Amino acid sequence: MGVHRCRKCAAQSVIYMPQHRLALCAEHFLAWVEKSTLDFIAKHHMFEPLDRVLVAVSGGKDSLSLWRILLKSGFQADGLYIDLGIDAGGAYSKRSGEYVRKFWRTFAPESQLHVLDLASLYGKTVPEMAGRRAGGRKKLCSICGLVKRHEMNRVARELGYQVMVTGHNLDDEAAVLFGNTLRWDVEYLLRQAPVLPAEESGLAGKAKPLARFYERETAAYAIVSNIDYIEDECPFSKGATSLRHKEVLNSMENGSPGTKLQFYHSFLRARKKGIFPGYERPVLQACPKCAQATGIPGLCAFCRLTTDAEKSIGEEIL
Ligand code: SF4
Ligand SMILES: [Zn+2]
Ligand SMILES: [Zn+2]
Repeated sequence: MGVHRCRKCAAQSVIYMPQHRLALCAEHFLAWVEKSTLDFIAKHHMFEPLDRVLVAVSGGKDSLSLWRILLKSGFQADGLYIDLGIDAGGAYSKRSGEYVRKFWRTFAPESQLHVLDLASLYGKTVPEMAGRRAGGRKKLCSICGLVKRHEMNRVARELGYQVMVTGHNLDDEAAVLFGNTLRWDVEYLLRQAPVLPAEESGLAGKAKPLARFYERETAAYAIVSNIDYIEDECPFSKGATSLRHKEVLNSMENGSPGTKLQFYHSFLRARKKGIFPGYERPVLQACPKCAQATGIPGLCAFCRLTTDAEKSIGEEIL
């Protein structure tokens, strides 16, 4: 590959991005990521300069980089860390939380960090909510996703944030898109967007401002910015289908740089034109307990889960 020089100033580059044929030095790479993020936010009307933004932070490179970019760009951005109570022999959640707090103290002392501890709020961690038997890791991850979505939405609405943002990168988005396409899951395909506006039915607005960056770019941004982040993936992500999809996409990307970016962007263009005309989304109703929108009659899936948790805690105490 040879040594690449920064396209802007000819200094030694820190990264070469073959899909853009672009090499940049540290200073110009940071500026490029920040400018591209702002352009992406504006292009998709994600939020306005005066909006209050809630960043869901996990302690990983993507979400911490996103928080950093938003603060550097002058947005009013606060953090939300949900302690899922994942231990798996390595104190994963505890360590993740420490990285988040360290970032907050170093880069965001003027912002708020909301920490939500599931075990103290609902009496159970995510692995405990999932139980020990049937379904294994898949069930655990689907419960984890459900809990995270519900709690992020609740906090964003209760605390009056205009939008909630997550650090999903292009590798994440392309892998999810690949899975949804293999199953032709129309409902998920229609809801897969870099921005989903707030709905009167009780769903907070959501946006993914880093969805155009490859994972290696968000990692490089964090490293060049001196952000300390948890490098381990969640121990329960091992064997996940989305990781296999990432591998397939990576091997295609290696043969033809830009494949992932094109796959995702072409999808967004097709989605905008209306890829599935005539498809009607299920009607949502308010959950009688938490008032969040749900597609099923009666309690929403989260309230059914936590009501069961409360019941079994009660039984254990009795
Ligand atoms: S991999 Fe870990 S963090 Fe991700 S959904 Fe599964 S349990 Fe939750
Ligand atoms: Zn340069
Ligand atoms: Zn509910």
